[in-house]
Amino acid sequence: MKRLHLHDTLSRNRCEIFPEDGKNFRFYCCGPTVYGPAHIGNFRAFLVQDLFRRVIELSGVKTLHVRNITDVDDKTIREAQKSELSLVEFTAGWTERFHEDAKLLNMLDPHLEPSAVQHIPEQIQLIEKLIKNGNAYPSEDGSVYFSVKSYSNYGKLTRIDQRDLMAGAGETANDADEYEKDHICDFVLWKARKPEDGDNYWDSPWGSGRPGWHLECSAMGMKYLGETFDLHAGGVDLCFPHHENEIAQSEASTGKEFARHWFHNEHLMVEGSKMSKSLGNLYTLADINERGFSAAELRYSLLSGSYRTKINFSFDRMNEARINLKRIASLVQSLGGELPSYEELCECAASGSINLGPFESSWDALLEDLNAPAALGELFVAIKPLEKELAEDNVTEDTKKVALHGLALLVHAFGWVLPVLEPEQLSLDVPDHVKDLAERRWIAKQEKDWNESDRLRDAVIDEGWVIKDSKDGYELERS
Ligand code: AMP
Ligand code: ZN
Repeated sequence: MKRLHLHDTLSRNRCEIFPEDGKNFRFYCCGPTVYGPAHIGNFRAFLVQDLFRRVIELSGVKTLHVRNITDVDDKTIREAQKSELSLVEFTAGWTERFHEDAKLLNMLDPHLEPSAVQHIPEQIQLIEKLIKNGNAYPSEDGSVYFSVKSYSNYGKLTRIDQRDLMAGAGETANDADEYEKDHICDFVLWKARKPEDGDNYWDSPWGSGRPGWHLECSAMGMKYLGETFDLHAGGVDLCFPHHENEIAQSEASTGKEFARHWFHNEHLMVEGSKMSKSLGNLYTLADINERGFSAAELRYSLLSGSYRTKINFSFDRMNEARINLKRIASLVQSLGGELPSYEELCECAASGSINLGPFESSWDALLEDLNAPAALGELFVAIKPLEKELAEDNVTEDTKKVALHGLALLVHAFGWVLPVLEPEQLSLDVPDHVKDLAERRWIAKQEKDWNESDRLRDAVIDEGWVIKDSKDGYELERS
């Protein structure tokens, strides 16, 4: 099978993706912070990572996928205290909710899902190593900082020049909260206990406190995937400082490269603006369900744009997802209905190649930097003549079998859960999107908007249908 090529944030090149050890592709994804429900922007990140994993596995490569749970930070401690639950009880509830949503969205479970609180000793050991190597120093209040000056490669991911960073920040630290730092750019590895932390602290050689946020991903990534692993993923907002700091801590401690590739997804916007609580446009999966749309439709919609561009969530986009999923489902049914399973396809891919039939260019588009819009474009180009031939009963059983196999690869790569259609919804009848075009054309005609009506009639013809007008209505026929 051909290999995936992906844009690597570190080298800024499109790289061929393969496991360095020749067996398992080992990758780490920054996971959710569990102090409330994940929003659909967070799920864009996790779904893009899910698409990535599926494409690798469906190319015949095994993976080892680690995604952490961030279960301690200032916000989480504050919210746990408000809820009057212990930190562990509080985060367990939100972790469970995250798992439920992930299941509804048909996300594959990571092979390992370690949490920060379960890895305090590993984080302390990492700090000890950094102090020993001269890359970190304890301060008088019992915190420990990473010395950015001590690591000459600082900034290699985002290409921030360390001298500019230092000059911009000034030489002395004046942040009231972290006044013990030698330099304002230094970041905290161990946070000394504060009264407002309540019972949420751990003992360490520097006194009681808790690890700084960046540390957990270095400690858990290296523990489960090795000092150097294949790829690290997260949303673009994590590039700086989180991922930059992860690289500094890890590479300063081992002297080895931390992750060979870095994979970042752009943000999800909502109706043109950034999602935020104050704008009231922050949606969870439950909110989407309440508006009458399914998790499967949300999944389709969030994966229909390129992961490297911002996409705009809108209910129009969700309607489109619904129509497209129905169209694909009805094609699957007309081709014979039974899709080979995900596992079966992974095995086929590992032992040779899959005959993708008319869907080869769609799969090729996915292999080129997970170009979902191009893959969907190619998919519908391939679907149209098939639908026509099926309607004319002009397809051999062999052709159907090959097409179903090829289509299955795309269905599983995108992780689509297809709706079960009633007999009257099958594609040999007029597909919903064509009905919609024809209906809009009829309205335009009634309103004497001739340009729009001509445009829509042509769009219907492009879909392989013709509109036959009568005195008080119209009918659709195959062209
Ligand atoms: P968090 O739970 O805040 O730690 O974030 C989990 C993941 O969601 C991280 O990879 C973030 O970069 C990502 N993320 C946060 N907001 C968005 C957004 N609006 N669109 C896409 N990804 C996001
Ligand atoms: Zn992380």
